[in-house]
Amino acid sequence: MKTTGKVYLVGAGPGDPELLTLKALRLLRTAEAVLHDELVAPEILSLISPSAQVHNVGKRCGKKKILQSEINHLMVALAATGLRVVRLKGGDPLIFGRAGEEIESLRAAGIAYEIVPGVTSAFAAAAAAHIPLTHRRASSALVLLTAHHAPETEAANWSKLAASGATLVIYMPGQNYADIATRLKAAGMAAETPCAIVSRASTSLQRTHCTTVAGLNIAPQLAAPTLLVVGDVVCFADPVALAQEFVVPTTAESLNSTLPGLFTDSQSQTPNPRPNPENYQEPLA
Ligand code: SAH
Repeated sequence: MKTTGKVYLVGAGPGDPELLTLKALRLLRTAEAVLHDELVAPEILSLISPSAQVHNVGKRCGKKKILQSEINHLMVALAATGLRVVRLKGGDPLIFGRAGEEIESLRAAGIAYEIVPGVTSAFAAAAAAHIPLTHRRASSALVLLTAHHAPETEAANWSKLAASGATLVIYMPGQNYADIATRLKAAGMAAETPCAIVSRASTSLQRTHCTTVAGLNIAPQLAAPTLLVVGDVVCFADPVALAQEFVVPTTAESLNSTLPGLFTDSQSQTPNPRPNPENYQEPLA
């Protein structure tokens, strides 16, 4: 009689393969089946044992949509045949990763499972721009929230969050930053609150744009996936990191007036000669 397999819900981290945990690496090398999301980088997928069966269950727009129930079913079915299954998700599996629903189906089917945390993209985004997500002089709390939520879940109370003074990291901000700015202002967030858009954090295509809530209206469209960091801690971003990563639509001088301390070096008085976002090329999926 074949024994039942096991499912490992594994975080692949934000993109850089070096941010994988050793445990995730070991599991990828020994898995017999892997179900992965679209966001997982090819370099990470290349670490999977060549003998494993690999299923891309990503649900990106433009491709055939795989229902969550189908993913749950496939995962349970593979483990029920005795396989060692890795369910690989971008970032951390428990942050906006629908792991909760997958865990429910594993429990209902009596399948053993284990969760392997990963570096969530908020941490990679903060690292990209050298933003301390908490700071003794600016913020003592951190909130991870999403701009998109399932119709059946209630939206986070943005007014309470804005009033709390916590650093906000907004996942899935979409491309309509003006809409987010309107929501933040309606929630009582000051228009001059600093914020940073971070695109493809931790990858070689990482880009960052620093602005304010008011400035989101004219922010460039950075390539997905992106995150939005909102709060006074953005003032502590490293100017050198920003000079390398930022695409700034406005002069450093005007940023300086709203983000004191950001551009304090010799570059600060001139507009930044940074890449035009229109020339920015999307890599092939
Ligand atoms: N479980 C993931 C989040 C999944 S939701 C995690 O812990 O990071 C998908 C969203 O995560 C994207 O829309 C984007 O907002 C964010 N994201 C994931 N990877 C990212 C990256 N490398 N850079 C910026 N944002 C990223």
